[in-house]
Amino acid sequence: MAILYAAEPEDAAGWQQSLLALDAGLEIRHWPDWGKAEEIDFVIVGGKSPGDLSVFPNLRAIQSTWAGVNHLLRSDGLPADVPIARMVDRGLTGSMAEFVVYHVLDELRDGPALRAAQAERNWLMAIPRQAAGLTVGILGLGTLGSDIAAKLAGLGFKVRGWSRSPKEAGPGITSFAGADSLPAFCTGTDILVCLLPLTAETENILDAKLFALLGDGTVLINAGRGAHLNEDDLLAALKTGRIGRAVLDVFRTEPLPEGHPFWRHPQVTISPHVAAITRAGTGAEDIYANFRRAMAGQNLLNQVDRDKGY
Ligand code: NAP
Repeated sequence: MAILYAAEPEDAAGWQQSLLALDAGLEIRHWPDWGKAEEIDFVIVGGKSPGDLSVFPNLRAIQSTWAGVNHLLRSDGLPADVPIARMVDRGLTGSMAEFVVYHVLDELRDGPALRAAQAERNWLMAIPRQAAGLTVGILGLGTLGSDIAAKLAGLGFKVRGWSRSPKEAGPGITSFAGADSLPAFCTGTDILVCLLPLTAETENILDAKLFALLGDGTVLINAGRGAHLNEDDLLAALKTGRIGRAVLDVFRTEPLPEGHPFWRHPQVTISPHVAAITRAGTGAEDIYANFRRAMAGQNLLNQVDRDKGY
């Protein structure tokens, strides 16, 4: 009964230590030194698989250390009948909330304008807006989106969320569900946050068609995936003022190429895909729980629906 660690090699020591702290009896091997293939029951991968996982005849589960599994699901040699779990980690969820709340508050309190004014020694005495005057729309009201929605609603923002299925949203949060509700969701949204998984349905969702549903000066925060965004459409929308400012943590090509126009764009804030990362210290608990579940033949926590793609 062995676990094969096949995620990012630089994180291997941290995961091993955190898992052994939960159960000192675990046998953890490391890709590509798995020993006898038939002894591997459980594989831990990162954003994608490093190789063919169909070589393990007794594999019971594949656990990703990433929340988004879009790359993993496209990996070669992914056995069709082995369940896959994605990462839900309270450390990651908390970090994403900090990232989004920080940028929403920066917008509320005129951060960009104040920083520009300071550079000119300009005493810009604009009366700050209040949270209740701003509507934050979150595309994706799942694990991350719903946590952020509750935190922003707690600060007094008007919050709305969009998902595939309707949600029982908490106080101060309005739930919109399905493609037909997208225009209503966009109307009146001042700050648009994308926290969708990347699937065939959501790829390129942040495009000219969607921007046309928003009001002038809308702030875009994309922390989902780079391929959610049509970059040319964003550049055009920044030019017309439809999008006032964009905070981007994820990009089609990462690292963002040196010559990319986003780097020097005055209305774009770049963050190098660090909005939220999984922490071994907290994430190991769910991985260990899934290992035990897989060994007992039970359903996994946070099991991926391969048909839906998330
Ligand atoms: P999740 O719990 O699976 O939530 C996804 C949400 O998106 C759900 O509410 C789902 O609706 C909704 N959704 C999916 N497809 C949709 C569609 N076609 N139309 C409308 N709504 C749709 O995922 P999560 O844990 O919150 O993570 C979301 C994404 O964040 C990840 O997939 C990843 O790409 C990204 N992420 C980024 C970072 C970073 O550092 N930048 C870190 C972690 C995660 P239902 O609830 O109705 O299914």
